Amino acid sequence: MLVAIVGRPNVGKSTLFNRLTESQLAIVHDEPGVTRDRVYGEIIWNGRTIPVVDTGGYVPHSSERFEAAIREQVDIAMEDADVILYVGDVTTGITDIDQEMADKLRKDDTPVLVVANKADNDERRWAASEFYEMGIGEVFPVSATNGIGTGELLDALVDTL
Ligand code: GDP
Ligand code: MG
Repeated sequence: MLVAIVGRPNVGKSTLFNRLTESQLAIVHDEPGVTRDRVYGEIIWNGRTIPVVDTGGYVPHSSERFEAAIREQVDIAMEDADVILYVGDVTTGITDIDQEMADKLRKDDTPVLVVANKADNDERRWAASEFYEMGIGEVFPVSATNGIGTGELLDALVDTL
């Protein structure tokens, strides 16, 4: 069993990974693209131990390589993972890359939970419902930095397994 955290750079995947695993295994950075490639950990919730991978980042040398790396990330996750946590950023909303990822995820049968991250306050939590437009799964407003919403997310994750 494996849960994969995927999404574009800088949306807070590594911060979420560290929050859910209560670890500091994944490197968080203010600049996109600095995460080590794949970091594995365990989520412990309601007596269950759930292996999770932060599918990580890349150094976007060119926009072409950047897009290719993101495509590869989602392809690997669809192959390896039993559930995908697709992380978006409520402060930017849905971007072109999110749309492209969603097109792929919609064609696959791997269950997806959408994490609308950086929902640090009420206003941002309301903005999270935009992510339903991606049409890939239930949306969970979460703040990976302060922990808001992670309980609901993990309850749903356990239900999905
Ligand atoms: P990744 O590239 O997707 O792994 O993103 P990181 O986890 O490295 O985070 C990128 C930036 O977003 C860092 O500056 C984080 O501190 C910030 N960040 C992550 N989660 C949140 C959040 O829930 N709220 C806010 N306000 N910032 C966040
Ligand atoms: Mg990262």
